[in-house]
Amino acid sequence: MTFATLGLIEPLLRALETLGYQTPTPVQAQAIPAVLAGRDLMAAAQTGTGKTAGFALPLLQLLTMEGPKVAANSARALILCPTRELAEQVHASVAEYAQHLPLTTYAVYGGVSINPQMMKLRKGVDILVATPGRLIDLFRQNALKLNQLQTLVLDEADRMLDLGFSEELANIYRMLPKKRQTLLFSATFSDEIRSLAGQMLNDPLSIEVSPRNVAANTVKQWVVPVDKKRKAELFVHLMRKGRWKQVLVFAKTRNGVDALVDKLQGLGINADGIHGDKPQATRQRALDRFKSSDVQILVATDVAARGLDIEDLPLVVNFDLPIVAEDYIHRIGRTGRAGNTGEAISLVCADEVNMLSAIEMLTRQTLTRKMEPDFEPEHRVPDTDASGQVVKKPKKPKKPKASGGGGGKRNLGKWVDSGDVAPAEPSIKPVRKVPVFNTGPRKKK
Ligand code: AMP
Repeated sequence: MTFATLGLIEPLLRALETLGYQTPTPVQAQAIPAVLAGRDLMAAAQTGTGKTAGFALPLLQLLTMEGPKVAANSARALILCPTRELAEQVHASVAEYAQHLPLTTYAVYGGVSINPQMMKLRKGVDILVATPGRLIDLFRQNALKLNQLQTLVLDEADRMLDLGFSEELANIYRMLPKKRQTLLFSATFSDEIRSLAGQMLNDPLSIEVSPRNVAANTVKQWVVPVDKKRKAELFVHLMRKGRWKQVLVFAKTRNGVDALVDKLQGLGINADGIHGDKPQATRQRALDRFKSSDVQILVATDVAARGLDIEDLPLVVNFDLPIVAEDYIHRIGRTGRAGNTGEAISLVCADEVNMLSAIEMLTRQTLTRKMEPDFEPEHRVPDTDASGQVVKKPKKPKKPKASGGGGGKRNLGKWVDSGDVAPAEPSIKPVRKVPVFNTGPRKKK
């Protein structure tokens, strides 16, 4: 199959040739004809599978072939993205695909001055890429009208809800014309996303190019158990041992990012960090320097790193496991993109066992554990498996006291291997069901 057989027009084929895209990826092969036929779409695709071109190429074609010229302060197509970085990245791809077409494209997001964006919108743009908050601001200030909108794309819709954008999405929904095409893309599909899709989509075609909630199989994943207080030391040790050249590291909090960057820089390691507290220009600069290999280690929170496309990124390290299990799939999706192989290493301490279990359940795999000599944890990480169970050591049966009295020390029990669980002991609760981690909306970071 070629892009030409999917019915794409010559200016798009020329752009793809320049970019070196020869064969459509599975999501492109399914999405392109459906979007060209005017269908609404609900697409589940792994990260890095080429979903941007999957919606952008047919969208550009429809806008070129159909519909009136864009009016002042209007957009004909809107692509909503969860973060500024992703908006920039999607816009860069759209602009590349559109290089031989008479269409205008633009990206708007918060964290930068709104005035230049208002000026730019005066003439109208064919394709507007936006984050939800800034889009609403522009709409409320009458800088943007949406009555000419033909197509809405929700990119990484699950992430938008995770970041607490459900209210913004509901507001935007009310601003849109009823008659439009809607394309919803998401790496993972929770029940909440399905309900959003039910509201926004009209008789959508469902596309699922990979098993649900399974990370790219081109990524080799494993876990190194370690005590919490020794994570930074272990990271430096593994980095030196493995001669890591370019690593994207995920930490849970902004403070965690800053602390690790300080520690690495203090050791003379070329590291930088990105998180939501840093100004957009600083974040972009750090990212650009990382992409061009001027920075060796980039430490990031989930919000800052979402959707980044870094060519040939060999390694992702989870310094902390994500609180939302689905973020694990997004994180490791930064490597092993477009058919390359990659590695994802998670440094896991005993406190994180429930997160590990939720990840294994979601991805339907038990992650291999590799103990690093001299870093074996004092606080053992309990065994987990893809069934979502953490195996807990039974309480030791109380020794009968010679005196018959109580008051002995209570044994609170320790986590142990499943093999250590004595099956017939009545006072023992060998396994405990682990709660599935919250996948619902959470506060904006
Ligand atoms: P995406 O999943 O849209 O972020 O795309 C992941 C990466 O794959 C990007 O670097 C794209 O430029 C690249 N890509 C997308 N489609 C193709 C294709 N058909 N052939 C080669 N590379 C592609």
